[in-house]
Amino acid sequence: MKIVSHSAGVLAMTSGEWRIWSLSDGHVDMEATLLRDAGDNPFPATVKAEDRVRLSVNCFVVVSPDGQSVLIDCGAGGSWEPTMGKLGAVMEEAGIDPASITTMAATHAHEDHVSGLLTPDGRALLPKLDAILIGEDAVKGFLAKTHLATFRPLLKPVRDGDRLESGLQAVALPGHAPGHVGYALRTGEDQFLFFGDVVHVPALQFADPTISWGYDDDQPTARITRLNVLRQAASQGTWIAGAHLGRPGIGRVASKDSSYIYEPAG
Ligand SMILES: [Zn+2]
Repeated sequence: MKIVSHSAGVLAMTSGEWRIWSLSDGHVDMEATLLRDAGDNPFPATVKAEDRVRLSVNCFVVVSPDGQSVLIDCGAGGSWEPTMGKLGAVMEEAGIDPASITTMAATHAHEDHVSGLLTPDGRALLPKLDAILIGEDAVKGFLAKTHLATFRPLLKPVRDGDRLESGLQAVALPGHAPGHVGYALRTGEDQFLFFGDVVHVPALQFADPTISWGYDDDQPTARITRLNVLRQAASQGTWIAGAHLGRPGIGRVASKDSSYIYEPAG
């Protein structure tokens, strides 16, 4: 993997014949009490109700050697805090034409991953969009978002192991939300896993992957998924790319005793 350019909001890379971007949609400050130990108690025990942790919101664009462009997750649009919904401006900075993207691959149906289909001022971000890939168990959550009703005909459910036309492969990563999936990519030079919400607070969850997040629907399952993903990424040298991995949102993992060290790209 070679880094082509790096700014606060954009990391542009190449790997083999592929081009890959990590793009910032912004950030959101959330209650630190959402961090949970294995007994579902706030972690650390000294946390105060008013403490906040800052979560990055990252999206990724992958362009295959034959020129197919996929956006993986699309941020929050105008659905959440005004500190989010920056994807359109950041794509412009990166020189990515929104009309070049015909597929959006969602890791799950939470606001900060799908609502950016609409810009904060209510326009469709991707004018030529013709497919929204989403885990089949996440479809229900997407359909519940009435502000995204116009996109329903574009939904294309994916299952674990599905090989997608773009060269990505869907990988079930259960626990955080119904139908939570990642997208794996082998470029011939590197392997990547775009893993959505496996990690929310990198400063704590690599050192102790048993620490969970209050919005993980099924914390024990999310914990097992996180441990498996980090173990495999460390042993295989996989680049992990996550919505909430801070900036630049992509890096590698080294194992150390029973914990992990995150090494951000760039
Ligand atoms: Zn998220």
